[in-house]
Amino acid sequence: MEPLLVGVDVGGTTVKLAFVSDGGEILHKWSIATDKSNSGKNIITDIASSILNRLDQYKQDISSIKGVGVGAPAFLDMETGFVHEAVNLGWKNINLKKELEHKLNLPVVIDNDANTAALGEMWKGAGVQSQNLLCITIGTGIGGGIIINGEIVHGINGMAGEIGHFTVLPENGALCNCGKKGCLETISSATGMVRLAREEIAHHPDSLLATQYNKTNLLSAKMIIEAARKNDDFALEIVDKASFYLGLAIANIAITINPEKIVIGGGVSKAGSLLLKKVSKYFKQFALPRVYEGAHLALATLGNDAGVIGAAWLAKNKL
Ligand SMILES: [Zn+2]
Repeated sequence: MEPLLVGVDVGGTTVKLAFVSDGGEILHKWSIATDKSNSGKNIITDIASSILNRLDQYKQDISSIKGVGVGAPAFLDMETGFVHEAVNLGWKNINLKKELEHKLNLPVVIDNDANTAALGEMWKGAGVQSQNLLCITIGTGIGGGIIINGEIVHGINGMAGEIGHFTVLPENGALCNCGKKGCLETISSATGMVRLAREEIAHHPDSLLATQYNKTNLLSAKMIIEAARKNDDFALEIVDKASFYLGLAIANIAITINPEKIVIGGGVSKAGSLLLKKVSKYFKQFALPRVYEGAHLALATLGNDAGVIGAAWLAKNKL
């Protein structure tokens, strides 16, 4: 029987888990709530017992598992499996690999969640057949994964591809979670777009967005995107601004690495062709023509499964 892979995608709200075949097909997937209490100390125990329970439930022997891959929203060192910090989970200075290996008695490999998403898209998604790709995940924040010659680029201490923290506004930028000002994430992420809307909404009282906001007192990236789809000028302005800085950042990265594919995923990518068209326009404006011509811009196709599939890829190829 072919070995089974386990993919784990740790998020701020849920942990997604899957049994994945050697060929990258999800055989069974499930999720558990992320318990952030007590500095996230229960998360690792929860993951381990959940995997063991499912194995039991599916009468699968633990010896059929080749290994476990884990993607986490963290600053981490893949080689040692050490997590320096995961702000959204409360983790600080924990040896994720060692602790999980101890609890499961299985080999474990870890990486940043943006990187596992990129690997997932390379293996089974929009990046299939590409060895050189840039993958951008736009949600609450902005994550990036850079794959060159089929390998994730980590850099000297695991920070490569943190493109959400590209400084795109050198002056008068908004404060970012990382402590800097003017990061791409402060404009083009879901959070960034909502911030832009909040700042300007009083000046656009007749917009669809303001009308909805006055009714519900809610403002979300989803609302902005839906209003933009209905041709609301104010919402379109926000999506255009987010796309401008995204296109600028993508052009600069693309000039650096000359990728074959650029894959955009995450919640904000649900804006679909509207976002893609605008980003493509600005990417073309700021990139060298040969760089633009060489790169195919596409939306991610795996959705929420990219992380577990990419984590399983790690278990297959890095253990
Ligand atoms: Zn930042």
